[in-house]
Formats: sequence, structure tokens, C-alpha cells
Amino acid sequence: MTCREFIEFLMQYLLGEVDREKFDAHLAVCSSCVNYLKTYQQTVKVSKAALADLDESLPKPPEELIRAILASRMKPR
Ligand SMILES: [Zn+2]
Repeated sequence: MTCREFIEFLMQYLLGEVDREKFDAHLAVCSSCVNYLKTYQQTVKVSKAALADLDESLPKPPEELIRAILASRMKPR
């Protein structure tokens, strides 16, 4: 697995939609992707917190919205 593939499928990885072993194997040898993953998870956390603040009557922010936010942040520049 390359770094490019890792980043491309990171969301599926976090959602448990792909084979985690390949990702874990890449993380074991690639510190830059470990850092990327940390940043990514922080973004997810912040996004969820921000969405939760918008409307407390929604116990869980819609997954689609989080996906959309993350997808827009991850677009190549
Ligand atoms: Zn990597």
C-alpha cells in the first residue's frame, strides 16, 4: 500500500469498511501517515463537536454531513 492509497481509503478504514490489516501494516512503517491519521481523527472530533453544538436535540450528527465536510477538506489543492 502506498501513502496515496492510504489517504484515499482512510475514511473507509475509519468506518471499518476495508481490510484494516493493510492499513495497520502501512502505519507500522510510515510515520507520516501516522501523523496524517492523527490529524484526520482530530478533524473528525472537531467536526462532530461543532455539529453537536449546532443543535443539542440531535444526539448524533448525521454521518453524511461529516463525510461531506471531511471530503471538502481533503480535496487536493
Ligand atoms: Zn504512508
